[in-house]
Amino acid sequence: MTVAALVTGGNRGIGLAIARELRAAGEEVAVTHRGSDVPSGLLGVRCDVTDSEQVDAAFDRAEAELGPITSVVANAGITDDRLLLRMDEQRFTRVLDTNLTGAYRVAKRGVRTMLRRRRGRLIFVSSVVGFRGEVGQANYAASKAGLLGMARSLARELGPRGITANVVAPGLIDTDMSAALPAERKRAVLDGIPLGRFGDPAEVAAVVGWLASDRAGYVTGALIPVDGGAGMGN
Ligand code: NDP
Repeated sequence: MTVAALVTGGNRGIGLAIARELRAAGEEVAVTHRGSDVPSGLLGVRCDVTDSEQVDAAFDRAEAELGPITSVVANAGITDDRLLLRMDEQRFTRVLDTNLTGAYRVAKRGVRTMLRRRRGRLIFVSSVVGFRGEVGQANYAASKAGLLGMARSLARELGPRGITANVVAPGLIDTDMSAALPAERKRAVLDGIPLGRFGDPAEVAAVVGWLASDRAGYVTGALIPVDGGAGMGN
């Protein structure tokens, strides 16, 4: 049976590395984008994860072209950092709506197909910040910690139907998102990484690829850090 996957935010950064990893493993792969080009070999489907109609339409189109999607990677995410007293409610909710509610929308539509196939892989891209916390990132950390509670609930709810739900928590990875950090903040983060360097998107993708494979069939509800040791003990 052809295995097909959908990766949100798979047009660039960590999501693109994940899409390439899954493709290299033989999966058909759809990636969501919000208007950008998508590298050849991947099916681009337009989708903003804050809109459930767009999420449903993206899955419908991907499944029409690739067949049933049984691996879903909720990767799309944003930051919008501010200290708490300067963080208005709109700024807080927008990050939650993209990172956490967006993952819920994607999981909900994805599971419909997985239940019919009695096979499924839900993989949520969280962050070390969700478990350590970070100054100015109350919104982002809350959204990323929330993914673990959601994944573990889904692991219990859907395990009996052959569907696994796992979380990957990257540390600082070299992408557009981390490039936006001020230099002194990057230096401070680097000091706290035992491996002494930022991660490469391909190193996150390797773990996601394994979780999506049949080799990880007995792994569910897990939180796997890919952070060079930055979050040990969290
Ligand atoms: P980038 O900023 O490089 O890419 C973010 C991706 O998310 C883009 O594809 C973007 O699409 C997509 N996206 C953002 N908002 C939406 C939306 N509303 N609907 C659909 N897609 C959206 O980030 P990274 O690749 O670095 O991050 C990927 C994931 O990894 C995120 O969840 C992030 O929180 C997490 N992470 C990243 C770390 C890092 O150091 N880089 C560390 C820990 C976790 P578009 O191109 O249209 O903007």
